[in-house]
Amino acid sequence: MTDPETRTVVVALGGNAILQPGQVGTFEEQLFNVDGAMRRIAELVEASWRVVLTHGNGPQVGNLLIQNALSAKTVAPMPMDVCGAESQGQIGYMLEQTLLNHLRKRGLETPVVTVLTQVAVDAADKAFTNPSKPVGPFYSEAEAKTMMLEQGHAMKEDAGRGWRRVVPSPEPVEIVPREAIVDMVRDGVCVVCSGGGGIPVVRAKDGALTGIDAVIDKDLAAALLAKDVAADALLILTDVPQAYVHYSTPEQQALGTVSLAEMRAYAAAGHFKAGSMGPKVAACMRFVDAGGTAIIASLTEVVPAMAGEAGTRIVPEAKATAG
Ligand code: ADP
Ligand code: MG
Repeated sequence: MTDPETRTVVVALGGNAILQPGQVGTFEEQLFNVDGAMRRIAELVEASWRVVLTHGNGPQVGNLLIQNALSAKTVAPMPMDVCGAESQGQIGYMLEQTLLNHLRKRGLETPVVTVLTQVAVDAADKAFTNPSKPVGPFYSEAEAKTMMLEQGHAMKEDAGRGWRRVVPSPEPVEIVPREAIVDMVRDGVCVVCSGGGGIPVVRAKDGALTGIDAVIDKDLAAALLAKDVAADALLILTDVPQAYVHYSTPEQQALGTVSLAEMRAYAAAGHFKAGSMGPKVAACMRFVDAGGTAIIASLTEVVPAMAGEAGTRIVPEAKATAG
């Protein structure tokens, strides 16, 4: 165990920390939500944790894509990687400002810096042959077919709600500015980075980077980030208090402290849904496999979760199994 003064935690904030279902998404709403989340992150910093923050960006990128679609005749639409960069800027700004204000109230002078983060994926990732992640606005079947023909976009029918563009969701392989992030974390900076899973890029053989249309899962990118900064803990904050087996059935059971082997068995049995709890559990397992402790908890229970009093904690060996 490292000295308590130097423990590092990577905190991944779910979309709810920024924009809640049913909200319109005004700047004021988003700032209010973010402010509440950052009050709790400031408590972690006060408790001597070095915090590295990452976050989702689904609703924000979705809105940028809608803006692009609606104004395409007057303003040139931007590709997905640029929308990802824009969302890192807007969300990073809100996180940075509200966290700085909460730290200041506590008399803490920890600097907070947002890093625009490119994350490289493998151009040969099999996700590119099977785009699966729905993004942006809904279209009619006729509109979707035109877009497939004219723009070459992959489009799929989304659960009876209409047609949507689908993009690949490849594995994150390299956090491009990782050395700078590691240096800043070591110097005591609270770094906000890899937002939305990172700006997706591919690296050519000669090392050159190019943006691509894709969405990297933010939880999987958080696991990579946690490994890169040699974090002691990975904390994934979401809108449920714990991970459950038999989720949303009468047999539902909350998971407390679970060993990596047990979690692997639950995941293999299909207890965690793809695209939501699935990648969180996968991210936790990767990080624990690399030697850390991983926790999935509610956004409202940051400090209890770090103290082992809330959430689902995945550990190398079983220390308890009660929920
Ligand atoms: P975030 O924005 O935090 O990434 P997601 O919606 O992607 O949130 O994931 C959280 C959701 O995962 C929960 O709201 C819940 O509906 C869903 N979920 C699916 N399977 C499970 C499970 N086994 N245990 C807990 N939640 C689950
Ligand atoms: Mg999610």
